[in-house]
Amino acid sequence: LIEFRGVTKSFGGPPVLDGIDLTVEAGEVFAVIGHSGAGKSTLVRLVNALEKVTSGSVLVDGVDLTTLSERGLREVRLGIGMVFQQFNLLRSRTVFGNIAYPLRVAGWAKADRERRVTELLHFVGLADKAWQYPDQLSGGQKQRVGIARALATNPRVLLADEATSALDPETTAEVLRLLKRVNTEFGVTIVVITHEMEVVREIADRVAVLESGRVVEHGTLHEVFTAPRERTTKRFVETVL
Ligand code: ATP
Ligand code: MG
Repeated sequence: LIEFRGVTKSFGGPPVLDGIDLTVEAGEVFAVIGHSGAGKSTLVRLVNALEKVTSGSVLVDGVDLTTLSERGLREVRLGIGMVFQQFNLLRSRTVFGNIAYPLRVAGWAKADRERRVTELLHFVGLADKAWQYPDQLSGGQKQRVGIARALATNPRVLLADEATSALDPETTAEVLRLLKRVNTEFGVTIVVITHEMEVVREIADRVAVLESGRVVEHGTLHEVFTAPRERTTKRFVETVL
């Protein structure tokens, strides 16, 4: 579904991503773990073309993003939802308004928007908060709104960049359970970016370890946990034993 082929990215200086080859399969939860500055956010930003590769290519559904026009990229972005560490909700809009926002942008009719938002509010367990404003919500509730908003237009892929890093452990577990349901009930492919091995263990099918812009190890959750090969991976695994 998402394929990185020899991807290199630099912002003028030394490469931030250096020869990345990875494939994310449709329907899986794929985690990318690495320390701060490893290049994790840059990697996901390439997927929705918020950044462009310096060399190599990123393919979504077999289509090389570098070959697309702005219009083509907008199309691809419609199929990709994104969840952020700081939630990025609109403070001046209600929960309902935040979730409806991408639907307005996509030109959905009012009745369709209302039906879809109501459905999503129930799915994330916030039906009673529809008319509250973000400032009136807890961190976990804000992230559930963020997830509902990301799902509004029925994307096939959800990119979650440190989606639980601002949350306490209990709330993190609750948000991860919700993401897992998004994966199993809607079949949405999820790419989770994190520096916490706990998050990987809770939710991932496969995991890649990123260090200084290179994938130093990748495999199934089981492989990486039971037989880590690289020192960085071992260190991460030790943090949750
Ligand atoms: P964190 O865990 O702290 O979020 P990360 O793994 O997400 O880190 P990135 O944000 O991808 O790391 O950054 C990787 C490197 O790229 C860093 O050295 C960063 O300074 C650099 N970088 C990222 N974006 C830009 C940019 N727009 N311009 C210049 N350098 C950048
Ligand atoms: Mg980051």
